Amino acid sequence: MKRLVILGGGESGAGAAKLGKKLGYEVFLSDKGKLADKYKRMLEELGVEYEEGQHSEERIFTADLVVKSPGIPDKLPMIVGLREKGIEVISEIEFAGRHTDAKMYCITGSNGKTTTTLLLYHILEKAGYDVGLAGNVGNSLAAQVADDLHRVYVVELSSFQLDGMFQFRCDTAILTNITPDHLDRYDYKFENYANSKFRILNNMRKEDLFIYGYDCEVVRERVERGDVVPEAVGFTYTDCVGVNAYMDGNTVVARWGNREFRIAKQEITIQGRHNVYNAMAAILAALKAGVSDEDLRKGLTTFPQVEHRLETVDVVNGVTYINDSKATNVDSAWYALDSMHAPVVWIAGGTDKGNDYSALFDLVKEKVKLLICMGVDNKKLIESFSPICEVVDTHSLDETMEVAYRRAEKGDVVLLSPCCASFDLFKNYENRGEMFKEKVKSLK
Ligand code: ADP
Repeated sequence: MKRLVILGGGESGAGAAKLGKKLGYEVFLSDKGKLADKYKRMLEELGVEYEEGQHSEERIFTADLVVKSPGIPDKLPMIVGLREKGIEVISEIEFAGRHTDAKMYCITGSNGKTTTTLLLYHILEKAGYDVGLAGNVGNSLAAQVADDLHRVYVVELSSFQLDGMFQFRCDTAILTNITPDHLDRYDYKFENYANSKFRILNNMRKEDLFIYGYDCEVVRERVERGDVVPEAVGFTYTDCVGVNAYMDGNTVVARWGNREFRIAKQEITIQGRHNVYNAMAAILAALKAGVSDEDLRKGLTTFPQVEHRLETVDVVNGVTYINDSKATNVDSAWYALDSMHAPVVWIAGGTDKGNDYSALFDLVKEKVKLLICMGVDNKKLIESFSPICEVVDTHSLDETMEVAYRRAEKGDVVLLSPCCASFDLFKNYENRGEMFKEKVKSLK
């Protein structure tokens, strides 16, 4: 019996265990941290042996195949050792892809992955497709493949997941943009991180489709270099009609094959320039999938707000509170500020990832009346922004909300778009967004 070792027991690890069992492997799962109860129960029901709080290397090194959680770095000595010994180490998505012939619509990029993934899934599902949602959002792809659930999957791929993918082939790939992020995992070299994103093209064929952010120079330059095998179609926020999706005034136009689809920007439920990009990417993919104009329009006009992404929480005393807690890097906060139409009380701060804030200066000058810094150490933010707007230094959400409530006037927006990771004051970005929403509700 072949031995499968799974490192990391979250959604993807537990899903890989299910598929491994179904394929007849002897499965062992090892997690250095603690497993959530629901995954423990699932493993017990499957009859999969597991360990928590440690990695027993003697056992792990007997594997024929290792499926590794994307959270575990490739540079970890144990992973290097496994590969040196000739043991294959792959990601859960790669493992799942080897055991299905379902069509894969995959999305990667520095920002916009989740929104684009959920939107495309929503459009296809509303149009009656037999479609599953997987990757960073939704359920594990491997678990769904084990039950042979769907003929089409929409899959969100992070760069870490792509690093563990080798034979996987996307039928349609979307690359939204590449801006600096996670450089700590890539030897602080932007080139390495960009290469990782471009792995989404591996194994794609001529008849496949690659949809890319034309306005992102890093992406466009590589496409123009001509080393992309599948048909490459771009999307742009300009009126450049030579690109497959572009703006005609306030109308989004997308062309593919002999189809042309048009929709007014305001009709799409999610707003802001970045969401036009996300919508264009999803529209092009839906055209390839053969979705009718009517179904496309239905999908785009019924898509619900995505939690923690420019989510309007409430209006209190004429002040609109917006939760954009997922904006954990400079580029995403840029798009959040860009889409604001009222004076902004901007809440930013947290764990700095080596940010260069200068790209935000013009927007801040134009739109921000007050910046409330919310973090354990706000020194860098204060130094960067105090020459251009009023800045207040706070160290807790309570303090922040008190200042925001006091200073925001009717017609203003209070925007939480932190630009930074959340780990100094919160468990994660979801926790930060949820606590913010609770506080807003309590203002009433
Ligand atoms: P990801 O899954 O790649 O992190 P999300 O869809 O979750 O992307 O959006 C994260 C944040 O990035 C949002 O809060 C929003 O401010 C910003 N954003 C969303 N789409 C884009 C885009 N296409 N380009 C730049 N920023 C974006």
